[in-house]
Amino acid sequence: MTALIETGETDEHKELRASVAALGSRYGREYFAEVVREGKHTDALWAEAAQLGYLGVNLPAEYGGGGCGIQELSIVLEELGAAGCPLLMLVVSPAICGTVIARFGTTEQQRAWLPGLADGTRKMAFGITEPDAGSNSHRITTTARRDAATGDWLLTGRKVFISGVDIADATLIVGRTEDARTGRLKPCLFIVPREARGFSRNPIDMEISAPEKQFELVLDEVRLPADALVGDEDAGLLQLFAGLNPERIMTAAFALGMARHAIGRATDYARTRQVWQEPIGTHQAIAHPLAQAHIEVECARLMTQKAALLYDAGDDTGAGEAANMAKYAAAEACVRAVDQSVHTLGGNGLTREYGLAALITASRVARIAPVSREMILNYVSHQTLGLPKSY
Ligand SMILES: Cc1cc2nc3c(=O)[nH]c(=O)nc-3n(C[C@H](O)[C@H](O)[C@H](O)COP(=O)(O)OP(=O)(O)OC[C@H]3O[C@@H](n4cnc5c(N)ncnc54)[C@H](O)[C@@H]3O)c2cc1C
Repeated sequence: MTALIETGETDEHKELRASVAALGSRYGREYFAEVVREGKHTDALWAEAAQLGYLGVNLPAEYGGGGCGIQELSIVLEELGAAGCPLLMLVVSPAICGTVIARFGTTEQQRAWLPGLADGTRKMAFGITEPDAGSNSHRITTTARRDAATGDWLLTGRKVFISGVDIADATLIVGRTEDARTGRLKPCLFIVPREARGFSRNPIDMEISAPEKQFELVLDEVRLPADALVGDEDAGLLQLFAGLNPERIMTAAFALGMARHAIGRATDYARTRQVWQEPIGTHQAIAHPLAQAHIEVECARLMTQKAALLYDAGDDTGAGEAANMAKYAAAEACVRAVDQSVHTLGGNGLTREYGLAALITASRVARIAPVSREMILNYVSHQTLGLPKSY
């Protein structure tokens, strides 16, 4: 109970934090940097985290998951990030895809996917962004039509910036189907296996030091069996939002972990680096911005916890607002924390050895994805404050 009052978390959450942090510290930034340098993936860490039950902590126990929620999964991601080795695929595989399948998938889809997503032996990517839609996901044009003779789906369209498609067994693609009655396009989710015919990917040359790559995807009449459609054709938007709230909460956790990692490196440095009579951390010009960054991270974590609690309690609407605010607050805290941390190290902030400069680009990801800072401000000004819609 004391822990709950102090941190908004239970004793079990604190224990989970401590044990994930211990795992993360055994790998650390050096491991992550080496994996990136060698063009490999974080397979060893992924496998060990899976074995310890961390990757599927949010998935139903009957399918081998931990039976907990997004709050616990966000703790896992934040602590690994704070140790310098964030696992981006946690945002998409168990958080978005696992959640959507657990909540809306058919029993067959749950049996086929959840045990593998829970024990980490299978991964699923998530594709919604399109080149001509971007932030305006109402404009996506990837369309599925039924082959009347076989009942199969034929999916055609393009996606961009989709993470981890090369290491995922399948991608959960947001497409649209035509409403037979009104002719309007309705959002729908399809599981597209990596090697499906007509499904091709081109890596995008990103300036981000991370093991996960982003891809442009082309879907050219990809033939999928009837049961590739997740859940109900008419509940598309509802199902989609069930996955997008965890995505925002997890992106907040990703940003919080990175911010804590950067602040940790900077404070260690500021405590010992001495160019006058005292360490540079004595100067308030160095100390105060780091203190400010720490406060912003703590505040953003509280909002992230609120969003996760609401989501796990089944309040999708309340969680929607809180998840947007949490993602905004955590991303902004992260960008500022990284900026100040790099500055604290002077010239060393830009060396590869200290590993902070790479975070400048990485921290910007949380500001733009999965929903940009401006789109969250649009949402809050319109939905929360009741101001006229601007777009
Ligand atoms: C590293 C990385 C990984 C990603 N992984 C995935 C993934 O796995 N799956 C996936 O589906 N997508 C992924 N994305 C895509 C990401 O979600 C999009 O980049 C994001 O939604 C923004 O879309 P856009 O890039 O097309 O920007 P645009 O929509 O073109 O926006 C450009 C700028 O204009 C601003 N803007 C746009 N509209 C408005 C408005 N109405 N009012 C004010 N400002 C506006 C935006 O805020 C932004 O600053 C990833 C992106 C990155 C960078």
